[in-house]
Amino acid sequence: MVCADGFIRRVHPILAAYVVDFPEQCLVACCKENRCPQCVVHRNERGASTPCPLRDVKETLSTLDEHQRGKKPPEFEEEGLRAVYNPFWRDLPYTNIFACFTPDLLHQLHQGVFKDHLVKWCEALLGEDEFDARFKAMHAHAGLRHFKKGISAVSQWTGTEHKEMQHVFMGVLAGAVNAQVLTVVKSLIDFIYYAQFQSHTTRTLDALQYSLDTFHANKSIIVTLGIREHFNIPKIHSLQHYVSAIRSLGSADGYNTEAPERLHIDFAKKAYRSSNKRDYTSQMTVWLQRQEAFALRQSYLDWLDHKLTSAFPSVTYSIPKAALFPDVTVAQLETIHGAINFLPVFAHFIQKFFPRCSLDPSRHDRFVVYKQLSIQLARNHFISDKARTCCIHATPATLARGRSPGVPAHFDTALINTENLLAYKVRDSFPCLNQGFIIHQGTKFQRT
Ligand SMILES: [Zn+2]
Repeated sequence: MVCADGFIRRVHPILAAYVVDFPEQCLVACCKENRCPQCVVHRNERGASTPCPLRDVKETLSTLDEHQRGKKPPEFEEEGLRAVYNPFWRDLPYTNIFACFTPDLLHQLHQGVFKDHLVKWCEALLGEDEFDARFKAMHAHAGLRHFKKGISAVSQWTGTEHKEMQHVFMGVLAGAVNAQVLTVVKSLIDFIYYAQFQSHTTRTLDALQYSLDTFHANKSIIVTLGIREHFNIPKIHSLQHYVSAIRSLGSADGYNTEAPERLHIDFAKKAYRSSNKRDYTSQMTVWLQRQEAFALRQSYLDWLDHKLTSAFPSVTYSIPKAALFPDVTVAQLETIHGAINFLPVFAHFIQKFFPRCSLDPSRHDRFVVYKQLSIQLARNHFISDKARTCCIHATPATLARGRSPGVPAHFDTALINTENLLAYKVRDSFPCLNQGFIIHQGTKFQRT
């Protein structure tokens, strides 16, 4: 193989990871489907929190051989094996097939633990109507989906729906269930979030394990309340293998089954389209090499960028070019925009954050009001390489006019950590504040 440094090397690939659905995992591991393809846990004990020894390649093969010779080794029954005598991995060097199975975020977490179990438990606790009513009652907010009709009306459950529900799930249940149930919900939701990180450290893996331990320590409440009789569920058991799988194979999002389909578009279709469609294999190869060079360079630049931004944390914002309300009086601010006591609060804000500012708010009576503000949040490399933005909306109610119906007021709630603002020096990190842009009462913002 020609390597990146131009040298030609003899390469011996080793089978290290195997992305496949649960029934196929069991077939490949030569075990029954009521067993774990990775460890020798008993079929009735998959709800327990105690880890079990992993299956062993040599021992499994020798048990299978003995069984084939007509003997009845006790391990065959104990480990739930089935009579697949010549698995394809028998002669593969350095391969431990039982450690090859990758976590499956979509089927095990989103569709399995979340939709098939957690949502059903909570629905049974609250009743379908109350559950729906709580989803409907959630406050609408940019970036969060508002389930206007509740969730029993959702006919198509895709990964997107699951993630949108997980965003608001804790809010839906808070106050409706007792504290221990809430702990169970929180621990599983935490587990799902940590498991999706695109990169991990010992700390994040500890947090992942801690969520699972918390779930096991509190799960008995679900039995006490009569929702379930046991937790002997294959997908609940599969959570036990996440930390070790991530340690040995890398973060779980890399094994998402959506990735290979996406890569086919990027690496094959796009490459073919950029060729002149004649003798395209070599053209596609050159195109791929160039894309790789771009990607390598880009990742270096991103790394530099990350080093710089983490050394100088900054917050940037963007507002529309033109304000929706360019000329608003203080009286209108208080009545239409709901900014009660505007001038005294504004004066207090200026005095607190800009003690040396000469601006006298009491001498201003007209303000420019924007209806939205996008704040660029610091990148979180655990979650994504992309920049994150947070959009805050504030629009007063519009009255019905002619045939167009009125629109109710929409004021987002914004929690602003002023301690951090001060720590980073307000002026440097919030350039908007230098220009007299202020955020008032968390929800409404004006500009002098
Ligand atoms: Zn297992």
